Amino acid sequence: MNGSALSRRTFLQSLAAASAGSALLGPAALAAATDDPRVEQILAKYISIDMHNHAQVQLDHPPQPSDSIPDLGGAIRRSGFTAISAAFALDFSKLEQPGDAYGHFMNGLAWLDEELKHGNMRRALNLHDLKAAHEKRQPTIVQSCEGAQFLEGRLERVEEVYKRGLRQLQLLHEKDDVVRPLGDVYTRPAHLGGLTPFGADVIRECNRLGILVDLAHASPETIQGALKVATKPILVSHTSMDKRPGNKPIPRGMAPHLISAEHARVVANAGGVVGVWIHVADTIEECVQGIKMMVDAIGVDHVGIGTDSDITGHQDQPNTNEIWPNHNGGLFRELAAEMLRQGFKPEEIGKIGGGNYCRLFDAATAGHS
Ligand SMILES: [Zn+2]
Repeated sequence: MNGSALSRRTFLQSLAAASAGSALLGPAALAAATDDPRVEQILAKYISIDMHNHAQVQLDHPPQPSDSIPDLGGAIRRSGFTAISAAFALDFSKLEQPGDAYGHFMNGLAWLDEELKHGNMRRALNLHDLKAAHEKRQPTIVQSCEGAQFLEGRLERVEEVYKRGLRQLQLLHEKDDVVRPLGDVYTRPAHLGGLTPFGADVIRECNRLGILVDLAHASPETIQGALKVATKPILVSHTSMDKRPGNKPIPRGMAPHLISAEHARVVANAGGVVGVWIHVADTIEECVQGIKMMVDAIGVDHVGIGTDSDITGHQDQPNTNEIWPNHNGGLFRELAAEMLRQGFKPEEIGKIGGGNYCRLFDAATAGHS
């Protein structure tokens, strides 16, 4: 989100207001998600993943015995997704001194450790782990982070967090690394010339170790620079097309977050995947129309789902499983049902729901332990 033009809270309030309106849309919006038996068949057959989810963590302290631990496993099960890519942003809190972002990052990881332990789960480190989780119907996460400010100029920390289980790294969010910035973001004036030499080093290190590079929030120039350096396809985990179905107006402050067809094609042509948000969609029908627009622009092999919501239902974020009124049967179940209604074939839903991500994740992590 853009902290200056639009606070996260204001944005979410406008989202909630828009969603409340969708309850008035009539029978189509009230249809039960899981009438179609193909939905459960799709869930059973294909690995699915929310490529960007803010599962709740606390960044100011590691979990204490008195803390209540969110039911991450239960929430993923309810969603119908096999997995989420669990990301937390470090730069909503103050980052003034080297050490601040690193400390917060370690606290976030400790919280997820605890949530995984409570659900008898573990992080997926490669495609084999995702397949095993899917076969056992055991929820899992891919560990990510929204913004690599925890690096604080120290390239060796990429390997350190790799050893802690991180397998997807979103280089940029809103604020620069306080020591060595990695590149320009799309919500602030460019001042770094796109990807910085340190950003390039981080991408090379991710490619070397086996970490999927996520360029959500990067400016088009930064992405162009990244594609020159990267030896593996890249992900843009959460955005939407810069046009809405029916040419509805773009909500104030949202335009920088959206991607042009031309820009999305640059990512797809390099083998990458672009994730479609639940944001900017007032209804689930509109969300699926947005997915269709992205598919029409870049092809069914290059689109995924990146909700940018919170599956454990933190009060500051939309709850992944309760985004639209009357569609609370679990987000991926609901989306798969609506995609079928709008004419997607099951195998296309399999690709968009997770198959395309799996291809990238495997390309990034294969051959690494
Ligand atoms: Zn984001």
